[in-house]
Amino acid sequence: MSELNLVILGPPGAGKGTQGERLAEESDLPYYATGDILRAAVKEQSELGREAEQYMDNGDLIPDELISAAIKERVDGREAADGFVLDGFPRTRPQADVLDSILGDLGRHLTAALLIDTPDEEAIRRLSGRRICQENGHLYHVDFNPPKEEGRCDRDGSELIQRDDDKPETVKRRLEVYHEQTHPLIGHYDDRGLLKRFDGGRPPGEVHEHIRATLATLRLEDEL
Ligand SMILES: [Zn+2]
Repeated sequence: MSELNLVILGPPGAGKGTQGERLAEESDLPYYATGDILRAAVKEQSELGREAEQYMDNGDLIPDELISAAIKERVDGREAADGFVLDGFPRTRPQADVLDSILGDLGRHLTAALLIDTPDEEAIRRLSGRRICQENGHLYHVDFNPPKEEGRCDRDGSELIQRDDDKPETVKRRLEVYHEQTHPLIGHYDDRGLLKRFDGGRPPGEVHEHIRATLATLRLEDEL
């Protein structure tokens, strides 16, 4: 297999970012997270950044065309010639069609869609337990990585707070949106035989090994 064109799917809190970055680093592929692309574009004040910023300032969703253009630029770049790991795109069924046509225009196709799944209760437990230090952004978790003194950062003593994004009500809403949007997407990839499922409830090292083994099998099948 000459290319590994991958998308990572999964609910918030499933560890997509961790797995995506690790996989990309190990396979020597670029990792593209939509959120990072947009934040970087805004910082650079590129054309995309300036347009995206207007939507963000108004609290509106960024339109598909804008994100699609950014993704196309990345996928078509020299850096992604051997493949890529996409996280955060596609997020909806129409976006999946856009990705198919971007790749089709380049004579390429998706290798696999990796779904890292986690039950909602587990995602809520992971996300709503996160705490961040106000001073320097150090991260903690009330169950998995608690500070020595409750509510205080070990490193600088500043107060630990819960981000709005991690409040239980917000997390529940994010999960609802995820299920609504992503369910058809999962079906789409499953129908095409591209979906590979992983248990995001397992320790990150195990999930990573499972993904590696799956990709190795895909490569073998491709060579036969
Ligand atoms: Zn701190």
